[in-house]
Amino acid sequence: MTEPNEDSGRQAELDQVRTSVRAICNKHGIDYWRQTDATHAYPEAFMDTMGEAGYLGALIPGAYGGTDAGPAVASVVVEEINRFGGDAAVINAQMAICGTLTRHGTEAQKLRWLPGVATGASRFLTVAATEPDSGADMSKLASSARRDGDDWIIDARKILISLAEYTHAMIVLVKTSEGPTLFLLDMDEVRPHLEIRPIDLISNRHTTTLFIDDLRVPDSMRLGAPGAGLRCLMDGFPVRRVLAAAESIGNARFFFERSLDHATTRRTFGRLIGQNQGVQYPIASVYGKIEAADLMRWDAVRRIEKGASEAGGRSALAKILASEAAWEASRVALTTFGGWGLAGEYHVERKLRDATVFVFNNMLLSYVAERMLGMPKAF
Ligand SMILES: Cc1cc2nc3c(=O)[nH]c(=O)nc-3n(C[C@H](O)[C@H](O)[C@H](O)COP(=O)(O)OP(=O)(O)OC[C@H]3O[C@@H](n4cnc5c(N)ncnc54)[C@H](O)[C@@H]3O)c2cc1C
Repeated sequence: MTEPNEDSGRQAELDQVRTSVRAICNKHGIDYWRQTDATHAYPEAFMDTMGEAGYLGALIPGAYGGTDAGPAVASVVVEEINRFGGDAAVINAQMAICGTLTRHGTEAQKLRWLPGVATGASRFLTVAATEPDSGADMSKLASSARRDGDDWIIDARKILISLAEYTHAMIVLVKTSEGPTLFLLDMDEVRPHLEIRPIDLISNRHTTTLFIDDLRVPDSMRLGAPGAGLRCLMDGFPVRRVLAAAESIGNARFFFERSLDHATTRRTFGRLIGQNQGVQYPIASVYGKIEAADLMRWDAVRRIEKGASEAGGRSALAKILASEAAWEASRVALTTFGGWGLAGEYHVERKLRDATVFVFNNMLLSYVAERMLGMPKAF
């Protein structure tokens, strides 16, 4: 695969990453993912292998044990896992969520967590922001923290929170008298005071409801300045969106490549099904949409690397285009595979469920309309 307009040195590095991640995927096999999905399991063995290969610290500076490989490499890692037929959600979380700590944590917090996150010894998989009443509106928090001497007392209700049962470190967004504020909870210390209830979801996302009642934490667990919580989270959004776009491109390529193979090998009515325009044209059409989304993804990656101000908008467009391409590709795969598209052994139905998780784009469209196009604010 050739990334658009990469110089030959960087192209070789990205090719090497693809080859190495593909080898790790092959080692575990595609049925590994079918099994973890069916049993709602955490992909522990796969994460261990990715840790040994050094990929978990791709976005962590070398001074804290990471490789500082950057968003281009991180995006190729998650794309290849999904393109293989795996589910990169957990590795995406482990690579990217610690970015808020890297940018806003104290030296003591960074030394406490980042080296273990880079190896995989410490799992840092969760940001708890969404609430039952306010949903997508993170400025209307009911969860709170109040000062009590040198400590804080946290009360929170959070919903749709991923991987809370498995993580060792969790960022929680609450309101304080200064405004939205982040806390970085050491789960080994606070877990007995949390109630975590699983939510049954379309895909194996380990999603939960989280209750925190009168939890006393030291000020050393506060992350960033009081009142700066939303800003601290949001400056990591361009990278998070690019990784979501890359995951979606991986999903889209999984559907596309499987469909192309099936259309050019399966025969009915005495000919290849790919000879029928009803099968052929949707495959050709979605191929163009995947490639277009990928161009936007690489444009966003380069702008992030340069610290360009347009990185936010381009990363939003990349996520929108890539998730829409994956959605369309999943439908193309259903048309191409017919009844077998719904059978577990072909993996299309499982990936179709995985790809569906990415289709919520309203907040990004709002960002594009207001910030890029100067349209009136909706809220
Ligand atoms: C698989 C999965 C994992 C998740 N993991 C986490 C996690 O780890 N941590 C976490 O904090 N959250 C997580 N979430 C929650 C996710 O961030 C929320 O679903 C999202 O913020 C929207 O909140 P809501 O579902 O309550 O929808 P609501 O806020 O009720 O909105 C419903 C719909 O209306 C749309 N909408 C609402 N207001 C507007 C508006 N002003 N303009 C246009 N459209 C609007 C929304 O886009 C959405 O499509 C996860 C969600 C999923 C599906």
